[in-house]
Amino acid sequence: MKKIAVIGCGAAGMMAALAAAQSSGSVTIFEKNEKPGKKIYITGKGRCNVTNACEVEDYFSYVKRNPRFLYSAVYDYDNKAVMEFFENNGCKLKVERGDRVFPVSDHSSDIIRTLYNAVIKAGVEVLFDTTVLSVESSNGKVSAITYSQKDDPIIRQEFDSVIVCTGGLSYPSTGSTGDGYRFAKDMGHSIKEPLPSLVPFEIKEGWCRDLQGLSLKNVGLKLFLADKNNKTSDSQDSPKKAKKPKAVYDGFGEMLFTHFGISGPLVLTASCHYEKDKLGKVYIDLKPALSEEQLDKRVLRDFEEGLNKQFKNVLGGLFPSKLIPVMVKLSGIDPEKPVNEITRQERLDFVRLIKNLPMEITGTRSFNEAIITRGGVNVKEINPSTMESKLVQGLFFAGEVIDVDTETGGFNLQVAWSTGHLAGVSAAAE
Ligand SMILES: Cc1cc2nc3c(=O)[nH]c(=O)nc-3n(C[C@H](O)[C@H](O)[C@H](O)COP(=O)(O)OP(=O)(O)OC[C@H]3O[C@@H](n4cnc5c(N)ncnc54)[C@H](O)[C@@H]3O)c2cc1C
Repeated sequence: MKKIAVIGCGAAGMMAALAAAQSSGSVTIFEKNEKPGKKIYITGKGRCNVTNACEVEDYFSYVKRNPRFLYSAVYDYDNKAVMEFFENNGCKLKVERGDRVFPVSDHSSDIIRTLYNAVIKAGVEVLFDTTVLSVESSNGKVSAITYSQKDDPIIRQEFDSVIVCTGGLSYPSTGSTGDGYRFAKDMGHSIKEPLPSLVPFEIKEGWCRDLQGLSLKNVGLKLFLADKNNKTSDSQDSPKKAKKPKAVYDGFGEMLFTHFGISGPLVLTASCHYEKDKLGKVYIDLKPALSEEQLDKRVLRDFEEGLNKQFKNVLGGLFPSKLIPVMVKLSGIDPEKPVNEITRQERLDFVRLIKNLPMEITGTRSFNEAIITRGGVNVKEINPSTMESKLVQGLFFAGEVIDVDTETGGFNLQVAWSTGHLAGVSAAAE
């Protein structure tokens, strides 16, 4: 029987340990926290969006980096297999909008309990409050790990295989503090720079902060990136440019203004496409259901109904009240101007502003607020058919520690389930 160490008792670690034990490996999980699945607990706002019920072929379009690397893992253990596992082990699931799958109870703790019970039932030993300090290899083969438990002396233990499931750097309070990158680097692996992803944007414009707390449903968001030294070339601000810029993200949904900028599901998804070395601009379409022409007619109608009113007093039907002073200011139109004195050009510019409310991104929030980490162990150095390192025999990786990341919707946990399962089965194989 192969002796297998799994580092991390999160989603990937538990799935890897279960798969390895069921494939007759002798498995020990090492977890620095006092309990399993601390991050799973906070997923999906405490409800755990455990996977996505999309067609498996469609899954890869939600993977932002290195989707091809995941083919074997996902086809080997796909979303249907994950749903079957939880259902068969007593955790009933339901499918919500966007094919997002949740436990019927709406409690992430049920996902953790189901998985952890299966791990224990399969005979896996789990050591909590145990921090792995290093992974050793000799002659190109993994040999041992060292670990410490609280203030006890460091222990060294030999293993045939080690599966690194330490997660990324996001929400470090859950235990994911990037240790796996160090283990990988120490054994010669390269790490794609870890960056926060599915993360709010910090915004330059001060008016954004005036809107703090305002949530907008059903708005459009386009993200444009340009070279920093070529500030205007990719910007919508330059209507005379020869080439029409292409948005790197064009989505629809809900967003929120905060004390630093913008957040909410739409913004988090857009952040997958952001590049910190580029100049990023977002344009919010406040009325995505209407074309500019239709919106102009609508604005004209509002203006005609309030002909003798001041500009600032005819916008109640268009925007939430908190947004009105900001839109008035950005329009450049005198707020006290009677509506019947507003020129056609002023009105058309205002309509354009409503369809393209511009904001400049100064950066993202930190890992403390990032749902996931983009970057990680270079996929070129991992065999996609087994999750084994191509550099060190018996060393496996699974979950967020690998350089793959996806949009929201249950796709990231599916990465953990699929790569964890494949790594576990492979590690236990002769
Ligand atoms: C707020 C939030 C909400 C999210 N919601 C969703 C969602 O609804 N759906 C979805 O698909 N994804 C969601 N995600 C992303 C998803 O949770 C992660 O992608 C996934 O949990 C990664 O699993 P993992 O096992 O690779 O890493 P982790 O879950 O981070 O587990 C790593 C484990 O390794 C342990 N560890 C690390 N270093 C050591 C060491 N040296 N020794 C011992 N143990 C160690 C850690 O303590 C931790 O328990 C969310 C993330 C966050 C932060």
